[in-house]
Amino acid sequence: MPILVMKFGGTSVANIDRIRRAAKRVGVEVAKGYDVIVIVSAMAGRTNELVGWVDEISPFYDAREYDAVVSSGENITAGLMALTLQEMDVPARSWQGWQVPLKTTSAHSAARIEEIPTDNINAKFSEGMRVAVVAGFQGVSPEGRITTLGRGGSDTTAVAFAAAFDAERCDIYTDVDGVYTTDPRITAKARKLDKIAFEEMLELASLGAKVLQTRSVELAMRYNVKLRVLSSFEEQSDTAGTLVCAEEEIMESNVVNGIAYSRDEAKMTLVSVADRPGIAAAIFGPLSDAGVNVDMIVQNISEEGRTDMTFSCPVGQVTRAEKALREAKTRGDINFHDLIADTEVAKVSAVGIGMRSQSGVAARMFKTLSAEGINIKVIATSEIKISVLIDRKYMELAVQALHDAFGLEKAA
Ligand code: ADP
Ligand code: ASP
Ligand code: MG
Repeated sequence: MPILVMKFGGTSVANIDRIRRAAKRVGVEVAKGYDVIVIVSAMAGRTNELVGWVDEISPFYDAREYDAVVSSGENITAGLMALTLQEMDVPARSWQGWQVPLKTTSAHSAARIEEIPTDNINAKFSEGMRVAVVAGFQGVSPEGRITTLGRGGSDTTAVAFAAAFDAERCDIYTDVDGVYTTDPRITAKARKLDKIAFEEMLELASLGAKVLQTRSVELAMRYNVKLRVLSSFEEQSDTAGTLVCAEEEIMESNVVNGIAYSRDEAKMTLVSVADRPGIAAAIFGPLSDAGVNVDMIVQNISEEGRTDMTFSCPVGQVTRAEKALREAKTRGDINFHDLIADTEVAKVSAVGIGMRSQSGVAARMFKTLSAEGINIKVIATSEIKISVLIDRKYMELAVQALHDAFGLEKAA
């Protein structure tokens, strides 16, 4: 029988009523003749609560135990979903990551999927089971410890299962009815896209649009998984939602197709470091070792052999970054006069594959922000995106102004 993967996010399984509603959707696909692999997230808010408890014990926790704790939310929903399906007379059972076993690297809290053997679940399908409910976001390391795939990781579990089982499609059910030109919570003018290219979705996701985890888009692109985002709260047709697909399948598109934002950024500046060969390595090596995800980097003009070095990272990593840099200074590996952290910044980005062939996008972006009186602190560009770091208090305004300026409320 053909296989379908259906993933339900946190708000879609937030309580028993919603689990029932999701299970009904699964029942519809089973009735059509699909064997279904359901991937579930933890109930809305549960993972945050679990993370909070770990943080309360110590900010320098054992990552293996962190994963043991935060993965547990998904175990509950997997069992509850299987029970609900059984109540509907749909033969179903739950699987935790290690039972599959979904094998990952040992990079706790950010593990990568290495292998998903299909024999265990397929054996059950051939015995008459119609739905395998799998706990998302988790796996098992070569050492036999529980791992997690990073926040939002159930999307990645879903796409990886779709690839491993050669599923006809991977449907991501969430609390919005598709991928929009920007977060519909920021502007009512956001427009739902019928289709979006893998490359654009990849950029939007990595720049903060949390509707899909970045890695899930990467996998879908690599294994050509038919990936759809749709609402778990509305009646669905086969063409509902947004299809994430190859660029060639999209006829018309705007130059800029989406605006993404990332709220919790920080900008750090090392004031007056010696401008000598190896200085970047001496600064960013220890940051990388400390697990700091450095994003944008700017080195200012050098004066009398000294320069300022500015970089951005998630605001939650500032303490770790400061510690790593001060320790490097104590060791004598680097020397700076001051270390300034600005923890009130956000990143706003414009994304579009049309930028490859059209110039002037950056100029329009800067003009728009300037007209709103928004100061740009750092700029970064790539082939299909432009990102700016600005004061966090202007983030919503910047997203709305850019959405207007690039005419995103209207299709091309
Ligand atoms: P789930 O719990 O189902 O995984 P998430 O909260 O992770 O859901 O992702 C869905 C949310 O992503 C939406 O509620 C929306 O606020 C946000 N979002 C951000 N950018 C976009 C976008 N471009 N299109 C749609 N949703 C977006
Ligand atoms: N529950 C996890 C999280 O909140 C994984 C997921 O929902 O995708 O990050
Ligand atoms: Mg999510």
